[in-house]
Amino acid sequence: MDQQTYDAIVVGIGGMGSATAWHLARRGIRVLGLEQFDPGHDKGASHGDTRLIRKAYFEHPDYVPLLHRAYDLWDELEAEYGYKLFHRTGLILAGNPQTSQVVAGVKKATVEHCLGIEEWTPAQARQMYPQFQFNDDWQILFEENAGFLRVEECVKAHTEMAVKNGAKILYNTKVESWKVSGDSPAHGPVTVTTSAGEFRCNRLIITSGPWAPQLLKPLGLNLHLRRIVQHWFNVPEAFDERHGMPCFGFDTRDGFFYGMPARDGVGLKAASHSHGVKFDDPDFMDRSDVDPDLQHLTAFLGRHLAGMSEVKSIRAKPCIYTMSADENFIIDAWPMEGGGRSQQIFFAAGFSGHGFKFASVVGELLTDLALAGDARVPFGFLQLRPGIQK
Ligand SMILES: Cc1cc2nc3c(=O)[nH]c(=O)nc-3n(C[C@H](O)[C@H](O)[C@H](O)COP(=O)(O)OP(=O)(O)OC[C@H]3O[C@@H](n4cnc5c(N)ncnc54)[C@H](O)[C@@H]3O)c2cc1C
Repeated sequence: MDQQTYDAIVVGIGGMGSATAWHLARRGIRVLGLEQFDPGHDKGASHGDTRLIRKAYFEHPDYVPLLHRAYDLWDELEAEYGYKLFHRTGLILAGNPQTSQVVAGVKKATVEHCLGIEEWTPAQARQMYPQFQFNDDWQILFEENAGFLRVEECVKAHTEMAVKNGAKILYNTKVESWKVSGDSPAHGPVTVTTSAGEFRCNRLIITSGPWAPQLLKPLGLNLHLRRIVQHWFNVPEAFDERHGMPCFGFDTRDGFFYGMPARDGVGLKAASHSHGVKFDDPDFMDRSDVDPDLQHLTAFLGRHLAGMSEVKSIRAKPCIYTMSADENFIIDAWPMEGGGRSQQIFFAAGFSGHGFKFASVVGELLTDLALAGDARVPFGFLQLRPGIQK
């Protein structure tokens, strides 16, 4: 095997790609990771200090088995890396039980998968967490084992563990194209052309986040990008993780808003999941801190954080959602012309603003798929399906 030939190449060393590189490398696979930017860059989807992680999945109960495995793998990574990645602060989700799909979805996942969720009235919740003001017609759901992940640290941990296990990562190396050569398009070696020359591999795994619409163009996936701005706010000590402040997500008439506690001099972080501006090309996104939706977020915080009627954003950072048509992820082997699936090209895309908590398990899933043709977690509902292609 020459210097430029690898068992597997991973395109994009962000949330999903760094995890995939670790899982491949720890199984003894000779892996190359190709990343177009510097380590820890803030141009994609995996930056901004924190990401929520929870199991009572209102989006769809079928995600819960993946989350069980994701939790185990985050714990394993944290133990190997030797630095805290997962803060189990607990999570409060709230909304009107008559109308909120979040409340209905959490309860459905809880029942189907026997999860431990506490259900409170607003009065009970106020006693437990006086930091919040809840609407009188809300139901409050508390998931104790939920919390947040340190997003940049998770990517760094996966990458460092991959390298420790023998992976090579090239930064500032943009993948321009790839082609399968040899007798059969399903089996030949893959040549990957980059800004730093050509590389060859037997398996290619594409985890290019917001650049998926470009790199996966031949699949005709119905993906679109949304610019979402994350904000940080100065708050009193009561809103600090050390004082028992949990993560929160409230389903209001103006949209779904969420936040994480302040900690170590980092302000309280909050964002809206329901707003954001649609755009086309991630290379030309507005990277300033301008946020046309900020007033929705400050009005929400003013209403629902006790004693915080006036809040001011002290820091802001835009980030990108890659939305699929049904907001479920798309993870599969490349479909072949004339039927069947490639045994060499695999991809994961369309994480729709809720994917990071799954990065650990997606890395393992893609590795299983690439090496064994199937995965240990049930993921059929995420494979290519009618309605997500144009
Ligand atoms: C504001 C915001 C809040 C979020 N909150 C949550 C949350 O609370 N919980 C949660 O679970 N999820 C959350 N998400 C979603 C989650 O962060 C994403 O789903 C996840 O980070 C996506 O990871 P990724 O690997 O697909 O993309 P990325 O991490 O962006 O990685 C893709 C990488 O591929 C590289 N790349 C692309 N094209 C090429 C190429 N041609 N050559 C080389 N490299 C290339 C890019 O540079 C990038 O580094 C949030 C997202 C945002 C934006």
